[in-house]
Amino acid sequence: MNLGTRLELVARLIPENSIIADVGTDHGYIPIFCVKNNISISALAMDVNEGPLLSAQKNIQKYGLEDKITTRLSNGLENLKKDEANVIVIAGMGGLLIMDIIDRGYNVISPDTLLVLQPMLAVKELREFLYNKGFSVLEEYVCREDNKFYNILTVKKGKTDYLPKDIVVGKNISKNSPEVYKDYLEYKLRILNNIADGMKKSSSYNESELNNVLQDINLYKKELEQ
Ligand code: SAM
Repeated sequence: MNLGTRLELVARLIPENSIIADVGTDHGYIPIFCVKNNISISALAMDVNEGPLLSAQKNIQKYGLEDKITTRLSNGLENLKKDEANVIVIAGMGGLLIMDIIDRGYNVISPDTLLVLQPMLAVKELREFLYNKGFSVLEEYVCREDNKFYNILTVKKGKTDYLPKDIVVGKNISKNSPEVYKDYLEYKLRILNNIADGMKKSSSYNESELNNVLQDINLYKKELEQ
């Protein structure tokens, strides 16, 4: 089974002997890969929509893993019981949706539960939410697939101190993803510079929003200079 770079990195971050709940499983590739390769003992493949669950079920049957992977209709963590899984994966969704799922499912997440999060958008907002909500980002990774960059965060419950850089740039990406780090920083800087230029050209730009973008640019520049 070829997962592709993004999902392969997600799977690599799942500890051995885990029981995973894959929220928004769609095709079910993560649970199938993890169980098939003896990374996970068993898995719950969860989705809010029937269509993706049917496609996950078909794939699970194709690999003969029905005894180890259960599909479950669930909006976020609504139908997951506490400690039913020790790893929760939420991948391929926007950061705001991931925030909402974690917020509404907060009580299902134990201090020992590892969250593996792969937001497609709003990564900074997600990091800020996690720290403010009393979670710690343990590690962060970036990979590139089809010329797009993807962030992946491992997270646990537990308050921690953090720096503005941890929110804006992320934590330990240079150590974890050295092969793409410079390109990633340059890409982020290009986007932020375009946003700042657009704001400056607009007749009605908001000064404090522009200052926020300029602060982020400075943090990325400092990181690039290191
Ligand atoms: N996780 C896979 C990946 O990373 O390739 C699939 C991502 S797919 C783009 C997003 C999936 O999330 C869809 O199957 C969608 O039905 C599901 N989804 C969206 N909102 C959800 C929610 N609130 N709870 C559970 N699943 C949700």
